Amino acid sequence: MKVLQLYDTFTRSTRVFEPLQPGKVGMYACGPTVYDYAHIGNLRTYIFEDILRRTLEFNGYLVKHVVNITDVGHLVSDADTGEDKMEKGSKKAGKSAWEIAEMYIKAFQDDIHKLGIEEPTIWCRATDHITEQIQFIECIEKKGYTYRTSDGIYFDTSKLSDYGFLGRLDIKGLQAGARIDLGEKINPTDFALWKFSPKDHKRQMEWDSPWGIGFPGWHIECSAMSVKYLGPFFDIHCGGEDHITVHHPNEIAQTEACYGSHLANFWMHGHFLQLDAEKMSKSAGEFLRLQSLIDRGYDPLAYRFFCMSAHYRAKLNFTWESLDSAAQSLDKIRTISFDLGEPSHADSEWVDRFISEVNDDLNMPRAVAVLWELIKSDLPARVKKATLLFYDRILGLGLQDYHPNEEIIPEEVMMLAKQRQAARMEKNWALGDTLRIQINQKGYEIEDTAQGPKIRKKKEVQNK
Ligand code: AMP
Ligand code: ZN
Repeated sequence: MKVLQLYDTFTRSTRVFEPLQPGKVGMYACGPTVYDYAHIGNLRTYIFEDILRRTLEFNGYLVKHVVNITDVGHLVSDADTGEDKMEKGSKKAGKSAWEIAEMYIKAFQDDIHKLGIEEPTIWCRATDHITEQIQFIECIEKKGYTYRTSDGIYFDTSKLSDYGFLGRLDIKGLQAGARIDLGEKINPTDFALWKFSPKDHKRQMEWDSPWGIGFPGWHIECSAMSVKYLGPFFDIHCGGEDHITVHHPNEIAQTEACYGSHLANFWMHGHFLQLDAEKMSKSAGEFLRLQSLIDRGYDPLAYRFFCMSAHYRAKLNFTWESLDSAAQSLDKIRTISFDLGEPSHADSEWVDRFISEVNDDLNMPRAVAVLWELIKSDLPARVKKATLLFYDRILGLGLQDYHPNEEIIPEEVMMLAKQRQAARMEKNWALGDTLRIQINQKGYEIEDTAQGPKIRKKKEVQNK
């Protein structure tokens, strides 16, 4: 079996993974900003991180997986200007910032659950760690890396000789080309550690601090919480590729200023899911969330399987056609797996082949190709089944629990069916027909049998 190798963005190289402490891995993943639902692009990153975690576990490590929840301080612009996303989301929803945080945390946790993503060992909310963030800023201040402006306390990035190394930032070029208004910032890459509340209105989320009433900048929460739960130097830090140039260099700068470490031994980044914006807005409003796929009759795990069709370090283009084909493949794998019957013991050679691809920097497209070969192989059925279930420890497709007759009907479709039934009881046939059409549009069909109405997925899911 190939040893585990992972691509590290910090060194821009694939390295053999060695834990800092024998048998244990500390892993931190930048979590959601809970001012809105997660879109399926965000979810691709969490699926990649889940496969990473499962791979580490498969290799025998005990993983401490920490995920933060950003519920304050993430401003609309990465340049530390504009509104706080939470306060903006609060206005949009007509609820308090605290209420929308609760609502979107729950929605996010529901999504990842439906996607077969393992629960992190620790969830940590930025607003539950204000003291830790203030203490961290005090530490950075004591070491001489901060300055004060009229709107907050800033990190002076020019004081670190290697600021921006992770993103290979061309600092001199950035400085020379800084036509943007720096305001009171000394360098274009400087960032806020603590922002003061505006003088003209009271924020919903604000705290007292040694510098005045305000709120933490977005980056400090990750340094403060990762140090608290994993120490100042831990094994793996991950997130989406957009974090390579701003958020993660800033996390590193903060931790380097205070502890002299670059925070993590491996830095791993999932590449973006691309969406055809026009098509998306036409079909599903502002953006696609997991629920948008469920409403069209897709199983969330079909999206998980779709994500495995590309390497996590490659862009992945979302189309309904490719999701269809992933859904069909998943159905096929499930049916075959079910028909194989009771498992006996896994075949070590086939397990080796699969895990060697996964251990090669999580090469899931090649690992899935091995799965198809296994299916076609002439291994005895029960051995094949056991091997497949072994693969599923990483794939996370729930093969063990799958039963062909158990079709999960989305709640929304169930509601429509109930309303239709009520309309029919009242002999309101017109409303009954309208509701039936709505059910059809969601990818389901309804049949009135002697035992009552039966709902099932339409044979062919309509794409438009
Ligand atoms: P946010 O909720 O905006 O803080 O983002 C949550 C996570 O999703 C971060 O790790 C981002 O890097 C990641 N992300 C944002 N957009 C995409 C996308 N289109 N594809 C994959 N990951 C994304
Ligand atoms: Zn972060």
